[in-house]
Amino acid sequence: MSTLVFLEHHGHELLKGSLGVLSKAAAFADADVAGVVIGSKVRALADQAGKFGAPKLYVADDARLEAPLPQPRVDVLAQLVRDKGIDTVLFGNSVLAADVAAGLAARLDAGLNWDLADLVQQDGKLVGKRPALQDSVYVDVGWKSEPRIALFRSGSFDPVAAGGSAQVEDVAVALEDFSTSARMVDQAHEESEGPSIEDAPVIVAGGRGLGGPENFTLVEELAKALGGAVGATRAVVDAGWYPYSTQVGQTGKTVSPKLYIACGISGAIQHKVGMQSSGVIVAINKDTNAPIFEFSDLGVVGDVHEVVPRLTELVRARKAS
Ligand SMILES: Cc1cc2nc3c(=O)[nH]c(=O)nc-3n(C[C@H](O)[C@H](O)[C@H](O)COP(=O)(O)OP(=O)(O)OC[C@H]3O[C@@H](n4cnc5c(N)ncnc54)[C@H](O)[C@@H]3O)c2cc1C
Repeated sequence: MSTLVFLEHHGHELLKGSLGVLSKAAAFADADVAGVVIGSKVRALADQAGKFGAPKLYVADDARLEAPLPQPRVDVLAQLVRDKGIDTVLFGNSVLAADVAAGLAARLDAGLNWDLADLVQQDGKLVGKRPALQDSVYVDVGWKSEPRIALFRSGSFDPVAAGGSAQVEDVAVALEDFSTSARMVDQAHEESEGPSIEDAPVIVAGGRGLGGPENFTLVEELAKALGGAVGATRAVVDAGWYPYSTQVGQTGKTVSPKLYIACGISGAIQHKVGMQSSGVIVAINKDTNAPIFEFSDLGVVGDVHEVVPRLTELVRARKAS
């Protein structure tokens, strides 16, 4: 099995999702794994790639690859797959990765399994695990031909820093005319404080039980005191109380912080699937029968408007002492 992992980067960092997929691929017993970084001035990322399990790293470094556009990346990957005889290409999900994976599948006439939560070897074959029926079951999915392409749901795998180093091989960049037609006009970064929801060790999430958008300051204050990020349910995102980028769940993000504090959240299955792998789950809800208590490690039956500010005060006091 010859596996290539697409290593996406922003700034001078490889994304956690890509590194998780790399660590997963490197853990297969008979793994022949390589990473690939595509961009401009990206050679310095080799250290990170090696540390997280890539014995080999292909580097496509070219000024024309600076903008994160999909088609030039498809050109590089398609060439690599053909030249090196790669049979499996893995991606961690993102807007860019989804575009590149789909473009590569079309270019190579290859099968793409998307939204996978795991990958296993069964009887010498690779089998993808894909959540279905509102994430209540996993279905096994496979590929009829090579190369196999897979796109993993974000948060599926934790990056494991094994501490190796990658042997770097530069790849020649040849772009198709049609791939250079699109131009990046602008890139804007969302202004936010504190860690992102994907990387935060602590998430304080708010639901409809907060009563209104103005009460999100309660969860923001607690998140700030704990050095964490704010999450939200779809109900409040749909109501326009909080941005979509913070939505946790089936149609939002999958997160696995060390601590997840759910404030005024009922615990619907679609929310649960996005946060159930958190280390410790604490729920604050005024309804003793709220489903969230069934999968919480610690439950507080009470009004969020009383419990959350008190908790924030206690955390601040503990930190100050
Ligand atoms: C296809 C599909 C995809 C979906 N995807 C997602 C998804 O990605 N993420 C997601 O979150 N949902 C998703 N949903 C919606 C999901 O089914 C629920 O409707 C949603 O999660 C409920 O959000 P909530 O817990 O904020 O609101 P509610 O279900 O209304 O729960 C509010 C909770 O707050 C409690 N409460 C009320 N007042 C207080 C108070 N003062 N103090 C303490 N507790 C209080 C109540 O007891 C209740 O338990 C999806 C649904 C579908 C059909």
